[in-house]
Amino acid sequence: MMDSKMPPLIIPIFLPAIGCPERCLFCNQKASTEAILSPSSVRNFIEAALARIPDDHESREKQVAFYGGSFTAIRREDQVLYLKEVQPFLASGLIDSIRISTRPDALDEETLSQLKKYGVKTVEIGVQSMIDEVLSLARRGHCAEDTASATLRLKQRGLEVGHQLMIGLPGDTFDRFLQTLDRVIELNPDFVRIHPTLVLKGAPLEELWKDRRYSPLNLDEAVQWLKKGLLKLENSPISVARIGLQPTLELERNYLAGPYHPAFRQLVDSAILFDMARHLLQNNPNGSHAVFSCHPKEISNLRGQRNENILRLKSLFNLTDIFISGRQELPRGYLGLQTEGKEAGSSFVKRQTVKSASLITLRSW
Ligand code: SF4
Repeated sequence: MMDSKMPPLIIPIFLPAIGCPERCLFCNQKASTEAILSPSSVRNFIEAALARIPDDHESREKQVAFYGGSFTAIRREDQVLYLKEVQPFLASGLIDSIRISTRPDALDEETLSQLKKYGVKTVEIGVQSMIDEVLSLARRGHCAEDTASATLRLKQRGLEVGHQLMIGLPGDTFDRFLQTLDRVIELNPDFVRIHPTLVLKGAPLEELWKDRRYSPLNLDEAVQWLKKGLLKLENSPISVARIGLQPTLELERNYLAGPYHPAFRQLVDSAILFDMARHLLQNNPNGSHAVFSCHPKEISNLRGQRNENILRLKSLFNLTDIFISGRQELPRGYLGLQTEGKEAGSSFVKRQTVKSASLITLRSW
């Protein structure tokens, strides 16, 4: 039986820049050295990928994903050639569904009918920003309204919708990013991916950066933007599929500048836990040491990379020691601090309320 709680196991078929009418400012996919897989090679590719799936992943949904370009902007007959190759796998149950990535302005009604007909379940659209000026500077060739219209029509057809967003494009600001998120939350896609803009070899942005007409965000700025963004999204029904680009050899070979980190999501989660710990310590001055409690899976994020959070908290609050106790019974997203004196017990803060500072004081959890 298929395990619906686990994210799907993706078999990615990378079609670099296929169908793209122009080249977006930040994109180096036309410079990609990877050859485009032809429709006639799809079957062998899927068979080889299925053979590599470990036994303990057998129960996961298996999804073939046509990534890397604007799938629905290629000729309709060519879309069919690719989609047809997956049909025998869908019929035999070896593959459960199909995912494609595309542009929001390449999803007319006929295309949507065709996607449904061939078993496409998920459509990821390159949204990047909901601010028209940012889209225009990024040479996207579509506007925010195209995203709104595509999202609504995909949802009406019962397709799962993903939004791919970027931060730090030319013309983008923190406020504009928050406005983008507000609009995305109104549109309510099923999931989002967000990544910071990087300068990649071969992308038109490289020239702007070399001419000093574009400066990417630094790593700390990107973490601070995404910290706020992640908390906003966690207060909505939208799931966050990924923060930061997937580290690949191709990416590392082409990276020139910008806020890249292979464990970006962990940096953002650590920054949130730092704020929570600081909030607790500010509200519960507690002598020379502190004892925090959290779910065991959050201990490493609380410590931060290379213990950075612990070192900063010690110096900020003049503490000699910080202890962390992992407590299985504590839900993820809560952080506790042991308190002393008359109010001895624990104070807790919840991840989403760290800014609004609603502390709950509990004797026991
Ligand atoms: S639509 Fe996507 S793949 Fe095509 S050029 Fe723009 S970013 Fe690159």
